[in-house]
Amino acid sequence: MTTTEGARRRPWARRAAAKAGPLPWLEAGSGLTDRERALLTAVHGLVGDDGLRAGELGRATYRRDASFLNADPLGVALPWTVEQTAAVVRACRDHGVPFTPRAAGTGLAGGATPTGEGGVRPLVVSVARMDRLRELDVTNRRAWVEPGLVNARLGRAAAVHGLRFAPDPASQIAATLGGNVSTNAGGIHVLTYGVMSQHVLAVELMDADGVVHLLDGTAPELAGIDLRGVSVGGEGTLGIVTGACLRLLPAPPSVGTMLAGFPSLRQAAAMVGDLVTSDRLPDAVELMDARAVGLVEGYANAGYPIDAAAVLLIEFEGLPHAVAAGIDTAEALAQANGATSVTRAQDAAERARIWKGRKAVAGAIAKRAPDFFLQDVVVPRSRLGEMLDAVVAIGERERLEILNVVHAGDGNLHPFVLFDRREQGVLDRVFAAGHDIVTTALDLDGTVTGEHGVGIEKRDFLSQVFSEDDLAVQRAVREAIEPSGLANPDKVLPSTVGCLEARMVPEGAWV
Ligand SMILES: Cc1cc2nc3c(=O)[nH]c(=O)nc-3n(C[C@H](O)[C@H](O)[C@H](O)COP(=O)(O)OP(=O)(O)OC[C@H]3O[C@@H](n4cnc5c(N)ncnc54)[C@H](O)[C@@H]3O)c2cc1C
Repeated sequence: MTTTEGARRRPWARRAAAKAGPLPWLEAGSGLTDRERALLTAVHGLVGDDGLRAGELGRATYRRDASFLNADPLGVALPWTVEQTAAVVRACRDHGVPFTPRAAGTGLAGGATPTGEGGVRPLVVSVARMDRLRELDVTNRRAWVEPGLVNARLGRAAAVHGLRFAPDPASQIAATLGGNVSTNAGGIHVLTYGVMSQHVLAVELMDADGVVHLLDGTAPELAGIDLRGVSVGGEGTLGIVTGACLRLLPAPPSVGTMLAGFPSLRQAAAMVGDLVTSDRLPDAVELMDARAVGLVEGYANAGYPIDAAAVLLIEFEGLPHAVAAGIDTAEALAQANGATSVTRAQDAAERARIWKGRKAVAGAIAKRAPDFFLQDVVVPRSRLGEMLDAVVAIGERERLEILNVVHAGDGNLHPFVLFDRREQGVLDRVFAAGHDIVTTALDLDGTVTGEHGVGIEKRDFLSQVFSEDDLAVQRAVREAIEPSGLANPDKVLPSTVGCLEARMVPEGAWV
C-alpha cells in the first residue's frame, strides 16, 4: 500500500515570481558589488519578493544556526520547488557566488552559517519550503520525502500504519529530514538502530549546475560504490539534498522504560558498561548529571531523583517477555552498581513523563542562563567515567557551570556550558572550555563529534583526527562530486589556504 500526504496549499508559490515590489537593497548606496547586485536581481526574477530576503532584517535571521557562529549572507533564497532551487543554484554558478544550503537551522556546528572565503558573501538557499511527504510506501516500508519535511512529521505519518522512523534527534520537532541526512544525525535510540546513514536508502543530490543525481540504494542489495553513503553527512558541501528515500521499521510491540539514580557519576558510568555488555542490550541509555536533573525537575516535573549525582534512563523495545527480561536485568545491574533509586514506568504516561525530562533540557536551561554552548564529543564507553570527571574539572577551572547530558550507550557526551554573554570576558572561558572538552575526548581515544557534525566549529580539529593523506582523499572525493567548490565552500574540511580561526561571537561578523 502506498499513501501520499495531501498537497498543501501554496498560494504564495504561484504569486511569487510575478510580484515585484520596490527593491531598496538594490539601490545605489546599498553597498553591493556589481556581481552581488546582478545575482540578487537574477534570483529575484526567479523567486519573486516572497522568495528572497536581501534586506538587513531579512538576512539577520539567517546569520547563524543554533551555534554562535555567525556571518552576514548576501541574501536568502526560499524556493518552493526543485526547479526553482536548480535555477537559483545555476544563477549562483553563473555569477561565481557560493551558496549555503539551509533547512531548519537547528545545527550546532555552524554548518548553515553563511561564511564565504575570500570575502565573497554566499547566498543562503533554504529548502524549508519543500516539505512534503511525497510517498509513504507501507508495503516496502519506506518513505520518499522532500528535504524540508520535519523529522517528527514523518514519525507521526508512519505511526498511523504501525511503522516508525527510528532516527530521533532531540530536535526532531523542528529539525528537517534533509538536515538530518546532511548531518548524519543521531538520536536517543542510536544504540541499536544506528545513525541516519543506516536509514537512508536513496538521496537526490543537486549539484552546482542544478542537475539532480539520484544516488539510489532502494534495491535489496547494492552494486558498485555506495555514493548514497558518501552523500550522507555532506553538510551541504556536496550540493543540495532535494529528496530522500528513508527506511521505515515496524513499531515495537512493547516498550519498557526505567529510571535509576546513582550516588556518583562513576557508578552511573560503570552501570552503562555493565549494561551494554550484558546479554540484554537496551535500545536507549541516556545519562544526566545532577545539575541537569535539578534544572529539569524545576521545569518539567519529570519525577527524577534530585538527590542523585546522576540518573540513567534505560529503554528496551521488542516482544513483551524480552522487554520484561531486559528491565529485570537492568534493575539487577543498577542495584549491583549502588543505585539509590529505581523506577519502572508502569504505563505509557509514565514513560512519556520520564522522557519529557530528557527532552526538556534545552528549555529548562533557558530558566537558568541566557546562553548555552552545547558540545558534542564521543569517547569509548569504557572511558566515559574519565571523560565525565574531566568535564567537571574543566568547568571548575574555567569557573563555568557545565551540565552533562550523555547518549551514554554510545559514549556520546553533550556538555552544556551555561553562561551570560553580558559578563565581561566570559566568552573566552566558554571557548577555552569547549576546546579542552574536545582535546580531552581526543586524548581518551574519542572523536570530535558524535552527531552534530563538523561545520566550521570542529573543522580545524579534523587535522588531529585524520592524517594529511586521509584529508587529501576526502578533498578529492568532494571535488569529484562538487567540482565547482561553490556549495558551502569552507565547511567540514580544514582550509588548505591557512587555518582560519573560527570565532563564536553572539553578535557581529564571523572572523
Ligand atoms: C536542542 C537541540 C537538540 C539537538 N539534538 C540533536 C540530537 O539528538 N541528535 C542530532 O544528531 N542532532 C541534534 N541537534 C542538532 C541538529 O538538530 C541536527 O544537526 C539536525 O540534523 C539539523 O537539521 P536542520 O534541518 O536544522 O539543518 P540545518 O541546521 O539547517 O543545517 C545543518 C547542516 O546541513 C546542511 N543542510 C541542511 N539541509 C540541507 C540540504 N537539503 N541539502 C544539503 N545540505 C543541507 C547545512 O548546510 C548545514 O551544514 C540538536 C540541536 C538542538 C538545537
